[in-house]
Amino acid sequence: MSNTATNNRETMGFQAEVKQLLQLMIHSLYSNREIFLRELISNAADASDKLRFEALHNDSLFENDSELNIRISYDKTAKTLTITDKGIGMSRDEVINNLGTIAKSGTREFFSRLSGDQQKDANLIGQFGVGFYSAFIVADKVTVTSRRAGEKSDQGVRWESDGGGEFAIEMIEKAARGTEIVLHLREGQDDLLSGQKIRSIIRKYSDHIVQPILMKKEEWKDGTQQILEEDETVNQAFALWARAKNEISEDEYKEFYKHVGHDYQDPLAWTHARVEGKQEYTQLLYIPSRAPFDMWERDAIHGVKLYVRRVFIMDDAEQLMPRYMRFVRGVVDSSDLPLNVSREILQESKDIEAIRSGCTKKVLGLLEDMAKNDAEKYTKFWGEFGRVLKEGVGEDIVNKDKIAGLLRLASTHADTSDETVSMADYIGRMKEGQDKIYYITADSFNAAKNSPHLEVFRKKGIEVLLFSDRVDEWLVSNLFEFQGKALVSVAKGGLDLGKLEDETEKKEQETVATEFKDLIDKISSSLGERVKEVRVTHRLTDSPACLVADEHDMSANLARLLKSAGQKAPTSKPILEINPKHPVVLRLKIEEKRFDDWVSVLFDQALLAEGGQLDDPASFVKRVNQLMLEMHSN
Ligand code: ADP
Repeated sequence: MSNTATNNRETMGFQAEVKQLLQLMIHSLYSNREIFLRELISNAADASDKLRFEALHNDSLFENDSELNIRISYDKTAKTLTITDKGIGMSRDEVINNLGTIAKSGTREFFSRLSGDQQKDANLIGQFGVGFYSAFIVADKVTVTSRRAGEKSDQGVRWESDGGGEFAIEMIEKAARGTEIVLHLREGQDDLLSGQKIRSIIRKYSDHIVQPILMKKEEWKDGTQQILEEDETVNQAFALWARAKNEISEDEYKEFYKHVGHDYQDPLAWTHARVEGKQEYTQLLYIPSRAPFDMWERDAIHGVKLYVRRVFIMDDAEQLMPRYMRFVRGVVDSSDLPLNVSREILQESKDIEAIRSGCTKKVLGLLEDMAKNDAEKYTKFWGEFGRVLKEGVGEDIVNKDKIAGLLRLASTHADTSDETVSMADYIGRMKEGQDKIYYITADSFNAAKNSPHLEVFRKKGIEVLLFSDRVDEWLVSNLFEFQGKALVSVAKGGLDLGKLEDETEKKEQETVATEFKDLIDKISSSLGERVKEVRVTHRLTDSPACLVADEHDMSANLARLLKSAGQKAPTSKPILEINPKHPVVLRLKIEEKRFDDWVSVLFDQALLAEGGQLDDPASFVKRVNQLMLEMHSN
C-alpha cells in the first residue's frame, strides 16, 4: 500500500483486488443497484449485534446509551444519503483493513481466474459477496466516519474514497460511537432522495433486521414534503427466526438469507424449525445456490451464527455444523446456553453436540426431500456442493448411510461426467446374480471411463461407478457397503464375478491358467522385483495386460495422490495380469531373443493405461522403437 501523509490525513491505495472488485461490481450490479442499502444496513446490524454481545462482558461499551438502532436520512440539496449505526464501530486500523483490503484467503487466486469478459466475470461476483463496496454502485464518493465503542471521542476516524484506486484516512473527533456512512450520490440517482423510495427499499430488503431502522416522519404540507422531528420505525424489527413459520413469506426468508449468508443471490433451499425437548433451540438453516469462492480454503468460514435468546453470540460457529456441511448458512438460537458462552466452552459442550447432531439431521433431511421431490434442484446442489458432502462419508459415521444415499456418481451407465446416478439406481439396475457394487477410482473421468479394468464389465453389461474426485479415495476407503451390497474395486484383488460367470467360463479359466503356467513363470522372473505376482486374467477383452493392487494394499490411484501431495505412501508392488487371448501375449509364448523387452513394454503400458508414471520413460520409448523397427524388418 502506498501512502502520502499531510498532517494526519493519509492517502492509501486499495489492494489490487479491491480495485477489480469495485469495477466489476459497479458494472455488473447496476441494474440491481438498490441492494447497496441492504448491504450497508446489514453491516450496521452486524455491528450492533457485536456491540450488544461485547457489552455483556463490559457494560461501559454502551457509553450510557444501550438503545441500538440504525438511522437512515437523506439530504436533497447535498444529494447525500446517510446510514448511521450505534454499533461497535471501527478503529483506524480496522477501517484500513476492512475497507481497503479483502482479508479472505484465496482472494488472489480467485481474482486471477477472472477472464476480463465483463459478462462472465459479473457472474462470479455472487461467489464473492458484495458488501460495503456496493455503495459505489450509486455513489461517486463515500465518506465513512467511525469510532469504536469505549474509545475516547478524539479517536474517531474518517475514511473517504471516490472508488478509484485510493482512499484517504484521518483521525477526527467523533462524539457518537459507531459508524456513519455518507453516500454522495452519482448523477442520475436523484430518485433515491425520497422518503417514500427509501422506505420501500428498506421494507423490501431489510424488514427482518432486528434493530429498528429509523427515519424521520414526513408529511405533505403546502404542496411540499416536510421532514418532521419525530422518528418512525420503518421495519418490523423482530428476529425473523423467532416468528411463526406460517407468518413468514418466501421473500422474507430469502432476504434474511442474504443478510446472514452475506450473499446477494437467492438461497437454494432452507429449513426452519423450533426444537423442543432436552435442548431447546430454533434453527433456520439455508443452502446457498452457489458455492463461495473460498469453500476449499482451509480456513473457509462456516456460516452459521449462534444466538442465545436472540442475543448474537458469534459468527462462524464451527461447532454447530460438521465440516462437511460448511456450505450451510443461517442461525441457531439456543434457549439454554449461557450468554457468556465462548468458543472454548462450545468445543466441550454436550449441549452443542446435541444441537449439532439435530442440525445435521435437519439438513440431511432437507437434502433427501430435495433429491426425492425436485431432482433438478438437487442436481444443482450436487454440482455446487457434492464434493464437500462426500467428505461426510468418512467424517460422520452416524449418518454415513444417509449421506451415501445422497451421493450422485458418474457411472458407465452414462456417457458424461455430468450425468450421475445414485447408488440406489445402481442397485435397481444390477444384473441377475450380481451382489456387489463395482467401482473404479482414477485421477480423471476419462482415465476411469477408459480403464482396461472395465473391459469385462462392459462385455457383460455390468455397470461400474466411476470415481475421479480427489475426495473419492477417502470416500471409498470409508464406505464398504450400501444397502447390504459390498462396494468392490474393479482394480483391486482377484476378480470374483461370482454368479455373473457361468460354469463353462470358470472351467475355461482354470484350463487357461494351467496352460499359461510356464509363460507366467517366465514373465515373473523377467520382471523380478517390479511385481508382486503375475497371473492370467479374464478382466480384459481388448488390452493385453493391466495392473491390479492386492486386496489389502493401497490403490495405485491413492498412492499417486498421496505422492503428489508430498506425503509418504507405502510402496506396495502391483500384480500384473495378462490377457491370454491377446495376440501380443500369444506372441510372447514364442518370443525368445527380445522376451525381456516385450515384457517390460507390457508392464510399462499397463502402468500408463491406468494413469501411472514410468520410472524410466526414455528406456520405454527406446524399447518400443526397437520393437517397431524389428516388426518392420520381419
Ligand atoms: P462482509 O460484511 O461480508 O465482511 P463488507 O465489505 O461488507 O464485508 O465489510 C467488511 C468489514 O467491514 C465487515 O466485516 C466489518 O468488520 C466492517 N464493517 C463494515 N461496515 C461496518 C459498520 N457499519 N460498523 C462496523 N464495522 C463495519
